Amino acid sequence: MFPATLCSVQLPPSFPKLTQQHKNFQTDSLTTHLVSNFNCPFELKQVHAHFIKTKTPLSTLTLSRVAMVCSSSPAFDYAHKMFRHVDNQEIVLWNSCLRSFAEGNSPIEAFRLLRRIRLVDLFPDTFTCSFAIKACSKLLALAEGRVIHALVEKLGFKSDLFLLNTIVHMYASCGAMEDACCLFTRMVERDVVTWNIMITQFTKLGDMGTARDLFDEMPMRSVRSWTAMIAGYVQCGKPKEATRLFIEMEEAGVEPNEVFHEMEERSVVSWSAMIGGLAIHGQAEEALRLFKRMSKIGIRPNGVTIIGLLLACSHMGLIDEGRKYFASMTKDYGIIPQIEHYGCMVDLLSRTGLLEEAHEFIKNMPIKPNSVVWGALLGGCKVHKNVKLGEEAIKHLQELDPLNDGYYVVLSNIYAEAGRWEDAARVRRLMRERGVKKTPGWSTMAVNGVVHEFVAGDGSHPNAQEIYEKWEELLHKLKAKGYVPNTSVVLLDMDENEKENVLYRHSEKLAVVFGLISTSPGTPLRIMKNLRVCEDCHAALKLISEISGRQIVLRDRNRFHSFMNGICSCKDYW
Ligand code: ZN
Ligand code: ZN
Repeated sequence: MFPATLCSVQLPPSFPKLTQQHKNFQTDSLTTHLVSNFNCPFELKQVHAHFIKTKTPLSTLTLSRVAMVCSSSPAFDYAHKMFRHVDNQEIVLWNSCLRSFAEGNSPIEAFRLLRRIRLVDLFPDTFTCSFAIKACSKLLALAEGRVIHALVEKLGFKSDLFLLNTIVHMYASCGAMEDACCLFTRMVERDVVTWNIMITQFTKLGDMGTARDLFDEMPMRSVRSWTAMIAGYVQCGKPKEATRLFIEMEEAGVEPNEVFHEMEERSVVSWSAMIGGLAIHGQAEEALRLFKRMSKIGIRPNGVTIIGLLLACSHMGLIDEGRKYFASMTKDYGIIPQIEHYGCMVDLLSRTGLLEEAHEFIKNMPIKPNSVVWGALLGGCKVHKNVKLGEEAIKHLQELDPLNDGYYVVLSNIYAEAGRWEDAARVRRLMRERGVKKTPGWSTMAVNGVVHEFVAGDGSHPNAQEIYEKWEELLHKLKAKGYVPNTSVVLLDMDENEKENVLYRHSEKLAVVFGLISTSPGTPLRIMKNLRVCEDCHAALKLISEISGRQIVLRDRNRFHSFMNGICSCKDYW
């Protein structure tokens, strides 16, 4: 039985009143259904009324569901009063809501809920705080994060390691490395997670020196510590250090025991991941060297290893090596080539300009070629200016991937470069007719924990004026270094001057210029781009890395480019 006082729980005024019509609907079966399926405060109220009428104890309700349904104000007070009578672990119920807000898509709701919890004088526990901190990390809300950190100290939770780790992570992901370091140094106890958070963050910032100091100093390492360091070296263009550490890790991890086969399995997975990682970061030579080492110690490659090798060959234009690896996968290792392997081979042949051979290769494939395979041929046709095979490729792509604008853009480019303006216009007309829209290019970059988004041609960024001025200044220096705007990548019908202006407003250029004016000298710039980087931006970014003395890491749709001292890690092969 529930206490009589519950009957007098006052519902907030915003609760809908039950009308006669509603009451008629309150059949028993409906209520029985609602008891476990109520989805809003109104339905909960129906259930509550039913319980009072039938003298059913409230504790039979799923209380976590009550909390979830009432976590929004003003129903919160209603649920809080209800819990006071049935549960002495109320905070646990609200924690489950906080958690789903913080880890789901509504971290802002977690803040609101925390405020309500504080207002009714409920005592938060360490979980309450950690979920709230998680919400801060997600929203990059540093100021709120500090307030909750202060609360943690005030409540006397400062010896809770799990909670402190969450706070270190919050500071680090908001870009407040000084606060993260300060807390890290003050922590009486640290575990491997604490160290990993710090190491990962420093590698993301490109500060491999500090990351390495921490790595060497840490008392115990996990796989995550090793992989964070290795990935950091690869991304900042230090493949030799990466490989050295990888081999050290493998050696440290090799402890022969009775689960040997499994260990070999794990080994081939990590070696393949390493080879593939090096290959897509443009460290092809290092990838091939690592493969030789892998074979030497007797680890047999799998299908994934071969993809890494073919990618490496493709990026370096190593046609004979590529053919050799492709042939040996069946001959020496009994691996049946999958569509990805064929795709890599077509890519390799097409990039090196062996377009006819690539076409023959596709025609002889024992499995149906997909859009990646034809797309690779089309890419080669653009570089090597082959209109005929480009048309052949697009014929298949129209069927396989009709709404992908990228292929139409490439074909239109091929025509434009061959001076076939009529055909270029026809492709654009075709795009319109089929409802294919050109995806707008955008780039993002985080500065001091705030993510900035730049859309091509867009002047809406608050610092747009400053960015354009800095670009003009930079453009003089670029031209002095030999930069000539490559207007062939602009598809629109307009005069050269206008085309140049379109080119200058490509999103990755805006992002880089913003990075230059808003970070201190020497800070590496990290940019994400939704499309493949165009030839012009690629050329400009190389020169900007030289002029500014900055490392620029650009993740485009296909791969990582790391620009440094006027060179890109992809060696212009992307
Ligand atoms: Zn561009
Ligand atoms: Zn590149």
